[in-house]
Amino acid sequence: MTSPDPSPYPYEAPLSADLFARGQKLTPGGVNSPVRAFRAVGGTPRFMAQGSGPWLTDADGRRYVDLVSSWGPMILGHAHPAVVEAVTAAARRGLSFGAPTEGELDLAEEIRDRTPVERVRLVNSGTEAVLSAVRLARGATGRPLVVKFAGCYHGHVDALLASAGSGVATLGLPDTPGVTTGAAADTVVLPYNDVAAVEAVFAERGSQIACLITEAAPGNMGVVPPEPGFNAALRRITAEHGALLIMDEVMTGFRVSRSGWYGLDPVEADLFTFGKVMGGGLPAAAFGGRADLMEQLAPTGPVYQAGTLSGNPVAVAAGLATLRNCTDEVYSHCDEVSALLRGAASAALFAAGVPHRVQQAGSMFSIFFVPDERQVRNYDDARTQDAARYTAFFHALLARGVYLPPSAFEAWFVSAALSGEALDQVLAALPAAARAAAEVGA
Ligand SMILES: *Cc1c(COP(=O)(O)O)cnc(C)c1O
Repeated sequence: MTSPDPSPYPYEAPLSADLFARGQKLTPGGVNSPVRAFRAVGGTPRFMAQGSGPWLTDADGRRYVDLVSSWGPMILGHAHPAVVEAVTAAARRGLSFGAPTEGELDLAEEIRDRTPVERVRLVNSGTEAVLSAVRLARGATGRPLVVKFAGCYHGHVDALLASAGSGVATLGLPDTPGVTTGAAADTVVLPYNDVAAVEAVFAERGSQIACLITEAAPGNMGVVPPEPGFNAALRRITAEHGALLIMDEVMTGFRVSRSGWYGLDPVEADLFTFGKVMGGGLPAAAFGGRADLMEQLAPTGPVYQAGTLSGNPVAVAAGLATLRNCTDEVYSHCDEVSALLRGAASAALFAAGVPHRVQQAGSMFSIFFVPDERQVRNYDDARTQDAARYTAFFHALLARGVYLPPSAFEAWFVSAALSGEALDQVLAALPAAARAAAEVGA
């Protein structure tokens, strides 16, 4: 028999709590990336011990259906046999050589064949891809300024932390402590989905702007898709002023379609950045673009960029196996499961009388607990959500074995492995979670 939840955190996770206490003496906040710490939702972050398909198992042996997917990469689910086999085989051949390997070419070709990029450079993280692309844009144009949108997250790059999404939004941090005023002054932050604001800043400072960077479809303030024609307008305006357009597809790339957001909204940026899915769960990322631009990188050009472990053979093997197994069926399954979950979550919240709005970009989606149910078009809109409702919703699902992002400012990620019992477990948990959200402020 189930009794009513006695507290916001109605279930025990003693081993995770022990590990978290130990972690706090070893690393700030006990975690190696801030949003993992559950600061926004409270409670003990689960230390994960194992993943298989759609399931995660924590240190206490509790099993969760995973709707985080390592924040995007695990599109095939955890420990996919083909990926594990490829990684194991690569590891047996040697972990790193500091010399070129054939697999890097295979992965670069896989990326080139799906996107408009002509040349690719492999790196280790999305952050590194973005900072390298911005450096290249500045080097190629000889201009200092970077334009970004509030609520977009492009990794922890100094110049791009202003009004950043993801953990910066989750923790409500002030802008850019540790970033010099010089670096901050070279960044112009605009509201998302506002073509007029972009036009205005380019009219005023266009000759100074090296690049405009945007998430191809933002997922780091929750999911806030570009309005139809928005990315195309960015392409037009940047081109008119000789500035470069950097499309950040670290989150969307090879996730929302075989060709990422480009496959759904084909706007040809000068440079693209990729990460997450293309590493298949290991550290691999990339940036790429037009040949003439990319050839300005060392060693063919003067813009320096390098990496001891760039194109690491084991990471490349994981990425390659992941992309090669991302068949049309994988994408259609993710789309279907996403639609099913969006519909079920919305129905449960509606039944419980909870004002909300579900937004999607391909199979990525998130729920905003916005009191007026208005469309969320930008970061200011996203911040009108009732985070306390999300907290209640999150913990009610966690208690029922469903692992959501521990923040209202993040996308939910489905995987091709999400089906059957796992899917049923999520669907069964939603009505109680909706009722928990309804009780907040009631
Ligand atoms: C995750 C993300 C990054 C940063 O990638 P890391 O691998 O975490 O450094 C950059 N841009 C976007 C759009 C992202 O979602």
